[in-house]
Amino acid sequence: MNAVESFAKYLKSKELKFTKERKAVLDEMFHRGGHLDVEDLLYRLRKRRKQSASRATVYRTLELLVESGIVRKVDLGHGHSHYELVLDHPHHEHMICVSCGKVVEFSDKKIEVALKRLCKESGFEHTSHCFQIFGYCDKCKGSLDSKKPHANP
Ligand SMILES: [Zn+2]
Ligand SMILES: [Zn+2]
Repeated sequence: MNAVESFAKYLKSKELKFTKERKAVLDEMFHRGGHLDVEDLLYRLRKRRKQSASRATVYRTLELLVESGIVRKVDLGHGHSHYELVLDHPHHEHMICVSCGKVVEFSDKKIEVALKRLCKESGFEHTSHCFQIFGYCDKCKGSLDSKKPHANP
């Protein structure tokens, strides 16, 4: 089942209509990929699709996409949520540059195994996880170093 089909099924189960605004939000998530917030989507819908979706509609549609398991929320440290596709996108975590905002996706089998073991040890039932590492990317780290006074002149 693809994302459109499963979203249609989910909306039907909630007795909600698959409106063209909702379809446009989903399409845009697929078209762009990556990590989008409400403002990104609003801008793109208006600019690219010439659609007049309201902020509330976009927000509500994203929430429905999260509830249906097609999209997940990610905290990239901006004080508001970003959204990314889960469907057809393998599980991963994020490294976020606090200087330029660059997001690096990574995954490691060993981390996944360790997390499951930790949960098991605490008698905790794992449903999902997503963590973020904040710091400086390769580029920003370099410019940071050059600004620092020389320790040994
Ligand atoms: Zn950076
Ligand atoms: Zn991601």
